[in-house]
Amino acid sequence: MNPLKMVRTQIKSALNEMDLDPVIYDLLAAPKRFYDFSFPVKMDDGNIKIFKGYRSQHNDALGPNKGGLRFHQNVTADEVKALSAWMTFKCAVVGLPYGGGKGGVIVDPRTLSENELERLSRAWMRAFHSVIGEYKDIPAPDVNTNQQIMSWMLDESNTIFGKGEVALLTGKPIALGGSLGRTEATGYGVAFMVKKVAEKIELPLENSTVVIQGFGNVGSYAAKKLVDYGCKIIAVSDVYGAICNPKGIDVRELKQFVEAGNKVSDFPNVTTIDRDSIFNIKCDILVPAALENSINEENADVIECKIIAEGANGPTTPKADKILLKKGIFIIPDILANAGGVTVSYFEWSQNLYGHYWSKKEVLQKEEDKMIEAFEQIYELMCEKKIKNMRKAAFMFAIEKISKVMKLRGWC
Ligand code: GLU
Repeated sequence: MNPLKMVRTQIKSALNEMDLDPVIYDLLAAPKRFYDFSFPVKMDDGNIKIFKGYRSQHNDALGPNKGGLRFHQNVTADEVKALSAWMTFKCAVVGLPYGGGKGGVIVDPRTLSENELERLSRAWMRAFHSVIGEYKDIPAPDVNTNQQIMSWMLDESNTIFGKGEVALLTGKPIALGGSLGRTEATGYGVAFMVKKVAEKIELPLENSTVVIQGFGNVGSYAAKKLVDYGCKIIAVSDVYGAICNPKGIDVRELKQFVEAGNKVSDFPNVTTIDRDSIFNIKCDILVPAALENSINEENADVIECKIIAEGANGPTTPKADKILLKKGIFIIPDILANAGGVTVSYFEWSQNLYGHYWSKKEVLQKEEDKMIEAFEQIYELMCEKKIKNMRKAAFMFAIEKISKVMKLRGWC
């Protein structure tokens, strides 16, 4: 499903329960600003290749636009627009003083050499520097982008601006102004939310079974924290394949194995299964931590679990949502479940602007507190309005906040 259609359906579904001016839908259905740049990069063989990149600034009522930048061969304009809208709602859900932004470059980074990746990252900054800014739009890592890419981009911006604006990007390495805890933040946040829901539905986490779809930064840290809570990870997938072991997979070892450049499916002493059959495995907790549309009307029927915690953005289509809700599955929506990343990005940005840094313990505690506060408020709204669908309640909670500020600003 087109992700932009998906987010529009989600907005409409929340607005149906709210008594707001219909113009609110128009204000939220499309980004306020959208940039489309083509930029040249010199490849190792001496040829010039033109890359296409998008940046979407969805809504800046609550503050500067904030959101990641992904490098992926399937990036589309509508996908970037949708992802920027999810950022707007995500920041509002956790109470950050940000609007939503997102960027994407159409490229499969696996086809680039290290030097080409660096030149692409620097060229991106030269193309986009005029539309971003520490009080305007603050990019961060997303799918296939990382601390090294942020470092090259930040360095390029120093040359362009003739000064170092360290708060221009988040998700930087610690040595370059990054925040302790940022790497773990998204995955740990997913686990914090699973723990809260498990308490509410009275699911003991000790020995509960978990399936993780996608073992990148989000999936691997979510798995690690869930193991700390006593859960057993029984299946894991990546883009190439999947593995399972009903007795539990050692995720610390798997993480090291994958970080050393290996595929999940080459991990020893486990059963290898087809990548997409990961959803056929019965479990207590399912964490989709890959891309949009992973759970759709074609596979929602076979999913058997108690909690779905959306580590990815937009992993569940609206049709799948309906099927899963009917089955009584508690879905922790992306705009809450994976909000830990941008929450710690906000901490990084504030630490940069203050020039004063916090300990990892402090960062992770503040992240957990912020997410729990958001969870409790949304849960209360669910109880008050008798809504079983947490996604709908989270959208209502976010739209309420954003529309109030848009009214104050005279936009509606
Ligand atoms: N890319 C992440 C997300 O989708 C993090 C964004 C950020 O830290 O600004 O939430």
